[in-house]
Amino acid sequence: MKLQKNISLKHLNTFGVDVSCKLFCSVTSTKEIEQLLLCDEFTKNNVLILGGGSNLLFTKDFNGLIVKNKVKGFETLSESKNNKIIKVGAGENWHQFVLWSIENGLSGIENMALIPGNVGASPMQNIGAYGVEAKDVIDKVWAVEIENGKEIILSNKDCQFEYRNSIFKNDLKDKVIITHVSFNLSKTPKKNTGYGDIMQEIKDLGMEVSTESICKAVIKIREKKLPNPDKIGNSGSFFKNPIISTSKFKDLKELNPEIIGYKISETEIKVAAGWLIDQCGWKGHRKGDVGVHKNQALVLVNYGKATGEEIITLAKKIQDSVKDKFDIDIHPEVNIIG
Ligand SMILES: Cc1cc2nc3c(=O)[nH]c(=O)nc-3n(C[C@H](O)[C@H](O)[C@H](O)COP(=O)(O)OP(=O)(O)OC[C@H]3O[C@@H](n4cnc5c(N)ncnc54)[C@H](O)[C@@H]3O)c2cc1C
Repeated sequence: MKLQKNISLKHLNTFGVDVSCKLFCSVTSTKEIEQLLLCDEFTKNNVLILGGGSNLLFTKDFNGLIVKNKVKGFETLSESKNNKIIKVGAGENWHQFVLWSIENGLSGIENMALIPGNVGASPMQNIGAYGVEAKDVIDKVWAVEIENGKEIILSNKDCQFEYRNSIFKNDLKDKVIITHVSFNLSKTPKKNTGYGDIMQEIKDLGMEVSTESICKAVIKIREKKLPNPDKIGNSGSFFKNPIISTSKFKDLKELNPEIIGYKISETEIKVAAGWLIDQCGWKGHRKGDVGVHKNQALVLVNYGKATGEEIITLAKKIQDSVKDKFDIDIHPEVNIIG
């Protein structure tokens, strides 16, 4: 394990914010993590665990140690007639894992194709797309406790998954390093085609509904809709979709018949934050190198040299205008590192 000093993070965060960190190292195994926890560099510094850097925003240089998780590997833990439990290293790329699962005849994560980042971060905010969430397939999460180096194994229930939330963003925030995640994948196709334009895209591709065609359709839709971070810096959806009461939604719908909301319980509706932001006139806004994507009001972008502070300033203005117009609070999905 090699410790490096003053490393640029520009290419290690998909926003492409040009900041650096005081210390940097990579870890490739649970054993290396346990050794790292005993080093002075670890115990005497602020520490940030880094995956693919696709869900965070650095507001300034990081005055501490960044640990890049590179724990790799796929292992079949058990197999039944219909399912396989696969344990995956936290440092594996998420999309490559999706492709691997399809190549191996397994189904369950194809709707989440092309989500950037690594497997280790998938339980953090319970990633999700096109009607499927990580919580639907996660079996267990292996992690090392930072305080004492002990390995813990959390069941799906222990993870307290919610919409873009889990125990790792609450009680265990900054307390563990996730090393592996196991997934319960199906040997028969799940065929989750009910969400968005998936069915139409499969027809356009001229394919039958299958795990592979759903994956292909999702990739096509995402390529059309979302900016590629390799071309324009961004972190995907900057804000979470707010959850409001059914009665408040009803009042808003009378004034704004076009408002987009999804029922999540008898008393709650999840409102499309992108629609709210669009109604406040932000879509396509640009000031200097920071802006709101022209097709996706939920995505803030760095056109080149935007700083984290500039992006935060824009985010605050957007939050204020949504609050003024709709009396709804919207909160960042992205982890702000200050
Ligand atoms: C273009 C684009 C599209 C996106 N689309 C979606 C989408 O459809 N759905 C969705 O849910 N998300 C989406 N995202 C957000 C992002 O891809 C996910 O949140 C992803 O899981 C982040 O993974 P990462 O490895 O890049 O995490 P990072 O950004 O590196 O880290 C995120 C947080 O997790 C912590 N962390 C990372 N790894 C570990 C670990 N091993 N142990 C402990 N803590 C850790 C970090 O400290 C940080 O707080 C999108 C992002 C982009 C740029």
